[in-house]
Amino acid sequence: MKLTILGSGTHYPSLVRSAAGYLLENKKKYYLFDIGPGTIRRLLEAGVDYRKIRHIFITHLHGDHVADLFHLLFTLKVQYSTGEIGKAGMDIFGPKGIKKFFNALDNQVVNLRNPIFSFPFRIREMTKENINAGNLKVKWAKVKHGSQQAVSYRLESGGKSIVYSGDLEYGQEIIKLSRNADLLILECSRPEQLPSRSHLTAAECGRIAAEAGVKKLVLSHLYPITEKYDIIKQAKKYFKGPVVRAKDLMEIRV
Ligand SMILES: [Zn+2]
Ligand SMILES: [Zn+2]
Repeated sequence: MKLTILGSGTHYPSLVRSAAGYLLENKKKYYLFDIGPGTIRRLLEAGVDYRKIRHIFITHLHGDHVADLFHLLFTLKVQYSTGEIGKAGMDIFGPKGIKKFFNALDNQVVNLRNPIFSFPFRIREMTKENINAGNLKVKWAKVKHGSQQAVSYRLESGGKSIVYSGDLEYGQEIIKLSRNADLLILECSRPEQLPSRSHLTAAECGRIAAEAGVKKLVLSHLYPITEKYDIIKQAKKYFKGPVVRAKDLMEIRV
C-alpha cells in the first residue's frame, strides 16, 4: 500500500500545508481519506487522476475535512453529463449524519439528485463493524471530537495495516483500533504545552502509539503553532519507534 499525504494542515489557509486529505493506493485502486479544501489540487500535483477514485472515507464533517467533496462531485456530474466519464460510480463513507449533511448541501449547491445528472454515487453512514471496499478491508471506531460525530479508520490489505485518526481527543477507542498497526497517522494539532479539549497534543500522540504498539507514527493535521515546537521529541518521550512530521505530498509505503 502507498499512502500520499495530500494535506498535512488544518483549516488555517496555507500554501505549504493543505487541509486534511490522504490518498491510499493499493494494487492500482485509489482511496481518499478526508477531502478538505485543496485536496483535489494536491491530487493533480501528485499526478493522480481524481476520476480513478471510487471510495472516499470521511472522518467528520468539519470543513477542513470535507469541503472539496462538493468540488469533486460537481466536476464529476458535469463530466458524466457530457460523456467524458462512464458509469463507474463512487461510494462515500462517513459518520452518522453525513446523509443529512449531504442532502442539505446538495439541495442548495450541487443538485446531484437531479435525474438529468445521474452520476452514480452512494452516501453511506458507518454502521457495520467491518466493510470491504475495493481491495481493502476497512475497520473503524467512533472517537470523541467535541460535539462532532467522528470516526477513525483502519485499512488492511495483504497482512499490512494503516490507521488514520481524523480529529479526536485521547481515548481507548483509537488505541484499540490501532493495535499493532504498521502505520498510524494521528492528528497532532498542539504541542504538549498547549493542550486542547478536542484535539491531540504531540505527547498524547506518542502515548497512543506506544500503548497501541504500532510500528511507525506520523504526526499530521499540524496547526501553525506546532511549527514552533519539537513535536517529534515530545512524541518520542513515550513512543520509541520512528516518528515522522507530515509534509504535503510525502509518500509512505507500507
Ligand atoms: Zn480538522
Ligand atoms: Zn475537526
